[in-house]
Amino acid sequence: MTQPLFSAVALTLFPDMFPGPLGLSLAGKALEKGIWSLKTLNIRDFSTDKHATVDDSPYGGGTGMVMKPDIIDAAIEGAKKILPQGRVVYMTPRGVPLTQPLVEKLKNIDLIIVCGRFEGIDQRVIEHHDMLEISLGDYVLSGGEIPALALLDACVRLLPGVIGKADATVQESFTITSEYAGLLEYPHYTRPPVWMGRQVPDTLLSGNHEQIKTWRLEQSKSTTAARRPELIRDKKE
Ligand code: SAH
Repeated sequence: MTQPLFSAVALTLFPDMFPGPLGLSLAGKALEKGIWSLKTLNIRDFSTDKHATVDDSPYGGGTGMVMKPDIIDAAIEGAKKILPQGRVVYMTPRGVPLTQPLVEKLKNIDLIIVCGRFEGIDQRVIEHHDMLEISLGDYVLSGGEIPALALLDACVRLLPGVIGKADATVQESFTITSEYAGLLEYPHYTRPPVWMGRQVPDTLLSGNHEQIKTWRLEQSKSTTAARRPELIRDKKE
């Protein structure tokens, strides 16, 4: 394999969490084949004192600890030796939500992903590196590693050669390249045709592809309208 199609460096206090689930299944095979690459640096290795300190108490008081800007900066400089063009991303609940259109952009660039712990990282190092702040959703996790893995998984599955059927990624929820753009997906059914007294919808058994297409699009629209009306509103805007 020549150059990977997508490369990332994760900065973390828990390097053993990587590649974690991304070392298995399709992403894992693609990693082995060199379709994408992932390196992990331990933020603690960039600490300079004998206690290997990475955090300190917050100015202004309050509970918890803050990751020190000088240590995070040194770790980023370390990552830049591996990925000189890397865009620095910080996973944080304060960031922009991770969406499919954002994933489509990020899969095309090298990423240096900072995984926070404790209360997060010093604001100044975020500004100094003009970090792209990304949130996995409106809830608080204990660290940025799971968000980083989620971001990487979303990018990697879009790379050519990762998912067998190129088509499988086109018709899914949120995909931006089809008539289902921005909609939730329609429901799926497989054999048997009757299970626990529940029937597969007739249309799907009809073999009429036009009808099936119309039914699926209708299902996508009605499910989205019921569950995520804001997705339809945002689409119109
Ligand atoms: N004090 C912070 C939460 C810190 S949680 C706040 O209230 O905003 C510790 C770390 O976990 C964060 O620095 C961040 O890197 C990560 N994290 C937690 N929840 C996250 C989310 N929803 N999206 C992305 N990263 C998250």
